[in-house]
Amino acid sequence: MPRCSALIVAAGHGARFGSDMPKQYQPLAGVPILRRTVAAFASHPGVDTVRVVIQPVHATLFADAVRGIAVDEPVAGGSTRQESCHRGLESLTAAPPDLVLIHDAARPLIDHDTITRVIAALEASSGAIAALPVVDTLKRGDHGIVAGTVDRTSLWRAQTPQGFHFTEILGAHRAASGAELTDDAAVAERSGLEVALVAGHEDNLKVTTTADLERAEMVLSRRAADLSDIRVGTGFDVHRFGPGDHVILCGVAIPHGQSLEGHSDADVGLHALTDAILGALGAGDIGSHFPPSDPQWRGADSALFLRHAVDLVRERGGRLSHADVTLICERPRIGPHRSAMVSRLASLLDIDVSRVSVKATTTESLGFTGRREGIAAQAAATVIFA
Ligand code: MG
Repeated sequence: MPRCSALIVAAGHGARFGSDMPKQYQPLAGVPILRRTVAAFASHPGVDTVRVVIQPVHATLFADAVRGIAVDEPVAGGSTRQESCHRGLESLTAAPPDLVLIHDAARPLIDHDTITRVIAALEASSGAIAALPVVDTLKRGDHGIVAGTVDRTSLWRAQTPQGFHFTEILGAHRAASGAELTDDAAVAERSGLEVALVAGHEDNLKVTTTADLERAEMVLSRRAADLSDIRVGTGFDVHRFGPGDHVILCGVAIPHGQSLEGHSDADVGLHALTDAILGALGAGDIGSHFPPSDPQWRGADSALFLRHAVDLVRERGGRLSHADVTLICERPRIGPHRSAMVSRLASLLDIDVSRVSVKATTTESLGFTGRREGIAAQAAATVIFA
């Protein structure tokens, strides 16, 4: 894998939106624009380091905006975007990357797929920029009158990131010093470097006006809605006590003066949880997947049932986010076995122990659990589809 640095250009002074604060530090849906931009690159697996070019007077704003994100020390920008980029590139020469992605701070909605496409295109090309084909018909105007129609078939709208092989774009910037060029692709073109066009994204808009800010907020709420397919299922199960010397609860054998009766190992905790997961999927119940009439489940380890439900989650494109089981009984005491149950469930569910909960309660000697005739369990499971 080539070493890739992202260089975020955030050195503009421009105070927009009727505020004194430069626009890259303004909040977008409560989060500074620059933080969103930096986070998008810092979290991309193909990006090794992120450096931001800022105005030194904004050092405190910058530190507040990126707190907690792994980002290099910022570098001071110049009086033009081109000069700021050049300074940013020079600052990377101390530990030169193979590739550099130059990106406008004011494009906070950059998506990982676009970043990936730009990096991939650099395998075959000196440069690659995210861009969109022009779809509107273009007119040339003269004092408010149409003076002609421009052929749009070869026209593209350039976005960022614009990616390059580091030493080539550094050389091009050094050679272009003093020239006034509007983007890094123009700097590269001037040095005769080949720059590929890569599909950008309509959402990757440049936030310049309050109207842009509103559009960006709409994109974010749409994305949030896309991610909110969260389903919660619940399950409940009861097994009665019979003769024996242990019970199995949440996959853990616990010595006890009685055992639970049932067709399988009668693990009420796993049965309730299996039903909760099946419930989140709308996939029936444990009895429809493992009929009690089927002799092959006699004495079965209920972990089999739970694993089946977990596999179904994956098959259907979901991700199990959380599981919570409540065991309801007077005896045995659950507390001493709780952490073993959590570990066992986390392992069966393939999720972290922090996402698993086992609780226990009694019914104050009331009802069948209070009379110690059996154990009940209820469970909830959360499955996320994204
Ligand atoms: Mg059962």
